[in-house]
Amino acid sequence: MSEPSNRVVLTGTGVPVPDPDRAGAGTLVELDGVRLQVDAGRGTVQRLTAAMAPVQTLDVLLLTHHHSDHLTGLADLVLSRWLAGAPRTTIVAPAGPTARFAAGILDQWQDDIAVRIEHAGHDGSPSVDVVTFEPSSSPSEVWHSGAVSVTAVSVHHEPVLPAVAYRIDGPSGSVVVSGDTTVCSEVELLATDVDVLVHEVRLRAFAEQSVGTHYEPIAGYHADAVDLGASAERAGVGHLVLTHYIPIPVNGHQAFVDEVRSGGYSGRLIAGDDLTTVRW
Ligand SMILES: [Zn+2]
Ligand SMILES: [Zn+2]
Repeated sequence: MSEPSNRVVLTGTGVPVPDPDRAGAGTLVELDGVRLQVDAGRGTVQRLTAAMAPVQTLDVLLLTHHHSDHLTGLADLVLSRWLAGAPRTTIVAPAGPTARFAAGILDQWQDDIAVRIEHAGHDGSPSVDVVTFEPSSSPSEVWHSGAVSVTAVSVHHEPVLPAVAYRIDGPSGSVVVSGDTTVCSEVELLATDVDVLVHEVRLRAFAEQSVGTHYEPIAGYHADAVDLGASAERAGVGHLVLTHYIPIPVNGHQAFVDEVRSGGYSGRLIAGDDLTTVRW
């Protein structure tokens, strides 16, 4: 490839609440010729197709935690790859519920798989190769391909345990995807001098309004926008991309941007929508 082709594409900026304009959580990273997908919420396959990243061309899928809004597109992804000629899917997941879910993803599809093989002569069965790791608050490498390396660290989305963030490094850049977490020192360290940080975000104003309501626990395990701005500034993040908004932005993203800036972040900032792309 003669032209630089590194990019980050938001394949889904939504949360569990259905939204016609936001697919479920997911981020595509293309770095130094390796194509990685982080999480696979609802609609991931359609967004990948729209992004001209055919599902069968993914090299690896990285999963952050076992919440449904990050996983409901997983069977679609694995089965669509099979039908497109890529029967084997490599999935990196923290040991525990997320890895168990991934390992069993095809269990409910065995009758479909059998009838397709019988009827259309598909060559072999689909399979998942689940690469598990024990998450830790110290970053460690969990996968690599050539010069591209993936590092994971445990984050804070309790009571969802484990939950992790990933850093992807290659010769021409670096990307961190937070998964779901409060603002924490683990992600800040992982994101030190990173080129692109894709981070979930929750309005501080929403948390303040949620005290004493049934939204309070939801507000509590997501990333405070003001604190995120401060953390991203300390980490020296080159480009901060917001995703996974709490609450759903009904009047645009400006409130999220304003809170992140008020925390002190001075670098490039994008409030992402589905298919928002950063290239370099
Ligand atoms: Zn989520
Ligand atoms: Zn979550």
